[in-house]
Amino acid sequence: MKLHIYLIAIVTFISGITFAQKPNFDEFKTSKGTLKIEPILHGSLILTHNNKTIYVDPYGGSKLFESKNVPDIILITDIHRDHLDQKTLDGIDTSKAIFIVPQAVANQLPKKYASKIVVLKNDQGIHRLDYFIQAIPMYNLPEVVDSRHPKGRGNGYLLTIDNKRVYISGDTEDIIEMRRLQNIDIAFICMNLPYTMDINQAASAVLEFKPKVVYPYHFRGSEGFSNVTEFKNLVHLKDTNIDVRLKKWYPNN
Ligand code: ZN
Repeated sequence: MKLHIYLIAIVTFISGITFAQKPNFDEFKTSKGTLKIEPILHGSLILTHNNKTIYVDPYGGSKLFESKNVPDIILITDIHRDHLDQKTLDGIDTSKAIFIVPQAVANQLPKKYASKIVVLKNDQGIHRLDYFIQAIPMYNLPEVVDSRHPKGRGNGYLLTIDNKRVYISGDTEDIIEMRRLQNIDIAFICMNLPYTMDINQAASAVLEFKPKVVYPYHFRGSEGFSNVTEFKNLVHLKDTNIDVRLKKWYPNN
């Protein structure tokens, strides 16, 4: 009996360690290297390809970025504080970074970054380092004047990294521009109410454009977290080939 209890204690201890150490990142082989994907917080993530580092919407305090490589590129999607987080930017070493942003974000960035900013309008693209970065519209539906995310202000992004196409939705609903995307290898899809869309819209859009791998991200809403497990079920009910990956995007999710 005693042995039994010891065994349970040991197994619990070991699985506890395994869980605590489970790395919160993924790696993908590309034609010329490795792409590492690392969730940081909410809509914030880091992409590392070989020795180049791309921050997306750095947010949540510079402490989260202390142990990370310094960025070569910073992509910002929109003006809201969970995307354009000046306090976090102030604590990051941006000395070698360029900022790729929509005009509305450029207007709010401090003058010290002026020489480092590249503005992309929706649908425009730019080659930087070895990558092609294209701005994709992101907006709420229906398109009303007092929309939280009016079309044209913010940018989602489509990155071509070697032979991989990576889509980052930004704050959007299941817009036609998302549904029409093709040959997406990796997609980051927001789902939080009332700011973006619910899991049904997100699943419906994903089932239409069929990314190979999809990460639900940006899923903390005013009423708590969206049910990303249910999102995964909704996708797999109709298409089990889409690899839905649930990662840790919040300290308590
Ligand atoms: Zn947001």
